[in-house]
Amino acid sequence: MREQTETDISPPSAAKAVVKPASLSRKQMLQLPPMRGSLESLERQNEKAEADGLERIEDEDDLSDRIARKFLVAVPASASLTVNPDLAEHHRYCRPWTARFLADLARAHEAQFHSPLEVSSAVRTVAYQKHLMAVNGNAAAAEGDIVSPHLTGATIDIAKGGMSRQEIGWMRYWLTPLQSAGKIDVEEEFQQACFHITVYKSYAPPKPPSSTLRAKNGPKSQPGNVQQKTAPSKSSHTDRDVASVVPVLGR
Ligand SMILES: [Zn+2]
Repeated sequence: MREQTETDISPPSAAKAVVKPASLSRKQMLQLPPMRGSLESLERQNEKAEADGLERIEDEDDLSDRIARKFLVAVPASASLTVNPDLAEHHRYCRPWTARFLADLARAHEAQFHSPLEVSSAVRTVAYQKHLMAVNGNAAAAEGDIVSPHLTGATIDIAKGGMSRQEIGWMRYWLTPLQSAGKIDVEEEFQQACFHITVYKSYAPPKPPSSTLRAKNGPKSQPGNVQQKTAPSKSSHTDRDVASVVPVLGR
């Protein structure tokens, strides 16, 4: 591992209000505990997915329809962000704010470690989740009140396999302040060895309809204030049939 400076390990700027930048030594960063899931986290994911107006994606037709209407965008694959080759092409999609988060995370990780992160899972359909349940006893439900948040497209998994202890510590250091700020929820999974991350719309809200509505006094460097190029201004605020939104939970 190369030398690190204190600024190298700074968390994203939104985090700086929560955790002092460079307040941890490298040794302390390595000792950060796993970000385990909890009932409280699941309840929060439930409430926030509902508040974000997200629906479960039922099947491939439903998925294609939402991709066509840009409710879902491609995972921003790049030299710093790869996708598990086993993941079907049409499952390499996520919500626009999740894509923004992925690009930010991958860029910061690349700057630090000069290697790519790998997305191991992104959007899933109810039909596909039922298949996963049949082959993987650890998969969350596809139907009912408690289901996998992957069904909304807001959640992605980052593979842990091949990550060094330094990388895992860095990930926890980078993710924890964003979770504390309510922009994401993280569950480290050990059977499937991944960081399972649900990203909320507040991470990168769709641009307001008029530029005159932009906040004049807010800090400009927070990820939540970053302008979106891809999200439609109005239509992405909610999916269709918002009245039928059901609670969304799980892994
Ligand atoms: Zn997951």
